[in-house]
Amino acid sequence: MNQNQDQTQIPRIDDIEDETIIEAVDFDLDTETTFDNGGNTDFFLKNPKSTKNNQSTFLSIKNPIKTLIDKYNLISDEDLRKLTLDSKLTLDSLISSYLVNIEKLYKLLSSEFNMRFYNDIDSLISKLDDNILDLSIQKKLGILIVFMTTREGNEEYFIIIPDPFDYELKDYLKSIIPKSLKINFALAKKELIKKTIIKYIKDGDVKLQFSLETNSDVKILSPSEIEDIEYNNTNNVPIIPLVNYIILNAHEQGVSDIHIEPSEENMIVRYRIDGVLNTDITLPISIHREVVSRIKIISDMNVAEKRLPQDGRFSVQNKNGRGLDLRISTFPTVYGEKIVLRLLEQEALKPDLEDLDLTQDQLNTFKSKIHASYGLILITGPTGSGKTTTLYSALSNVDKARLNVVTLENPVEYRLDGINQMQTNETIGLTFAAGLRTILRQDPDVIMVGEIRDLGTAQMAIRASLTGHMVFSTLHTNDAIGVIVRLVTMGIDPFLVASSVSLVVAQRLVRKVCPHCASTYDLDALKKDLNRKGITTSRIESLNFELEIMPDFVFGKGCSYCRGSGYLGRQAIFEFFEFNEEIVQEILKKNIDESKIRNLAKEAQMRTLVENAWDLVVEGVTTIEEVIRVIGE
Ligand SMILES: [Zn+2]
Repeated sequence: MNQNQDQTQIPRIDDIEDETIIEAVDFDLDTETTFDNGGNTDFFLKNPKSTKNNQSTFLSIKNPIKTLIDKYNLISDEDLRKLTLDSKLTLDSLISSYLVNIEKLYKLLSSEFNMRFYNDIDSLISKLDDNILDLSIQKKLGILIVFMTTREGNEEYFIIIPDPFDYELKDYLKSIIPKSLKINFALAKKELIKKTIIKYIKDGDVKLQFSLETNSDVKILSPSEIEDIEYNNTNNVPIIPLVNYIILNAHEQGVSDIHIEPSEENMIVRYRIDGVLNTDITLPISIHREVVSRIKIISDMNVAEKRLPQDGRFSVQNKNGRGLDLRISTFPTVYGEKIVLRLLEQEALKPDLEDLDLTQDQLNTFKSKIHASYGLILITGPTGSGKTTTLYSALSNVDKARLNVVTLENPVEYRLDGINQMQTNETIGLTFAAGLRTILRQDPDVIMVGEIRDLGTAQMAIRASLTGHMVFSTLHTNDAIGVIVRLVTMGIDPFLVASSVSLVVAQRLVRKVCPHCASTYDLDALKKDLNRKGITTSRIESLNFELEIMPDFVFGKGCSYCRGSGYLGRQAIFEFFEFNEEIVQEILKKNIDESKIRNLAKEAQMRTLVENAWDLVVEGVTTIEEVIRVIGE
C-alpha cells in the first residue's frame, strides 16, 4: 500500500518509461482533490481509483511528447524527470520549461505532422480571414484562420494551431467549419497567434480610421436635417464616422442590405451580397446602443422608443454628388434593437432589356408584348428575385417621348428619367388601388403598379388594361401559371383574367460560379458533395435533371474574391407564359385545374424555370446545389 501511495504522489521517470497513463489518472486525481474533505488526505490516498492496481482499467496511451523527446533526444532523462515531477508532460509544459529550443521544436513538429510552420507575424496578418469563423471566436480558441496559396498553387484555408497534439480542438474545428471547404492545419507558436490577433485588431482600427478620414466628405442628409450630435461617448469609439463607414463600405461592396444585430457579447454587422448574408464586422456590444441611437436620429425615428419596431429613411451623398437612399427598420430583440438598412441607389438607373439575361426568344416575345397598345404584363417571383429590375427595364423600352408613363410604387426604388413616379402612402390613404384611380385620370398610356396585393388593386389594373392601357405589375406566386389561379382565387372573373393578361413572367436569380476559383469534379464526387449537403439524387431526378448526361460539373472551390462561397454575381432565369386558345378555354372552366394548364403550356413549348436553370448548370454557369436552393420547392 505504501509503495502505491508513493507512486501516485510522485511519478517517477521509470513509471513513465514507455507507457504512461496520462489523461485518465490525472483526471481522477484532479477530481478527487477538488472534493472538500477538510484536508483529509487519507481519503485521497485510499481512493481505489488512484492506486496502481486500478490503472489497468484505464486506457493506456503512449505519451506522444515523450515519444518525440525520445526520438529526437530533445532533453536529458534527468531534465525529463524534473519536468514530470509536478506536472503532466504536455507540449505546453515542455515549451514553458525552456529546456528545448522552441523554434527547433516547432520545426520538428512541422515535419512530423507534415504541417506548415509560420513564424512571421506580418505574413499572417495580411492573410487573416474572418469569413468562416469570427475573429473573436478565433481569439477565444487561440487559433488563426488564413487564406493562403498551397504548394500546389491553390488558394486554401489554413487553420493555424499552437499544438498539433490537441486532437480535441482539431475535431471541434472540423465539426464547425463548412464541409465544402478544404481545411489544412498549420502551426505557429501560441504567443505568435495571440500577438497576430491583437496586432490585427489594432491595425484594423488604423485601417478603419483611414477609411473614415477618406470618407469625411460624406454628408448625411436626414429628413429633419439634424446636425451631428455630440455623444456622451464612453467607449472612445467615434460613433458618427463608424456609422458612415458601415454604410459607405457597404455601398462600395454592392451590398443590398445591412443588418446590425446585437448578441450577448458583440454587435455584428452583416452585409447581403448577391442575395446571401455575410458577417462583415464584429464590434463590442458596448457601442451598440450608441450606433442604434445615431441611426435613429438621422432616420428621423424616436430615439427613446426601444420596445416597438420603427421605420425611417435618410440619404447620404458624397462630394461627387452621388446619392444613396436608405430605408431603415428597427426590431426589438432580447439583446437590444436589430436594425436593417436597405440601400437604394439614387443615381438614375439605366435598365436595358438587353442586359436582362433573356434568351433571344424571350427577348422577342417580351418586346412585342411591351409595344402592344394595351395589355397586362405580370412579373412573379419571391422578394429579391429581380422583379423590379425587369419592370424598369420594360419601362425603359417604351417610347417615353411619345407616351405618358406613370408608376405607382412602394418604395420608389430607382428614379427613371422621363417617367412620372409616385409613391404610395397607406397612412394618408394613398393605397395602390386609390393611386391607380388617380393615375387613370391623368391620361396615361403606360402604367406600372409596384405590386398587386389585394382584389381592389387587381380589379383596377385589369380594368386599366382592358380600357386601352399597357399595365405592368408584380405578384407573389411560385411560378407563372400560379398567377392565373391567384387572380381567380382573389375574386377576379376568369373571363377578365383570360382577356386582360398578355404575358406572365416568372423569374429567379441564381448565383454564378466564381470564375476565380472555378473547378470541376465528376459525377461520383458531385454525388458525395450533394449527399453531404442533404441533396439526394432522387430529389434532382424529381426536377427532371439527368445527371448522367454531364461529363463533369463546375463548382467554385472558394477563394478570397468570393469570400470562400464559390459564387460571384448572379444571373436571372425566366419562365414566359402566354395563353393560347386551349389555355383560355381551360381558364374559363368552372373549376380551374392548374396542372391541366401546366400540361397545355408545356405542349405549347413553354420553357419552365427549372428547365432554364438546368441549362445554366449544363453550361457551367451555376451549380445543381444553387438551383435546388433557389427553385427546389
Ligand atoms: Zn472564388
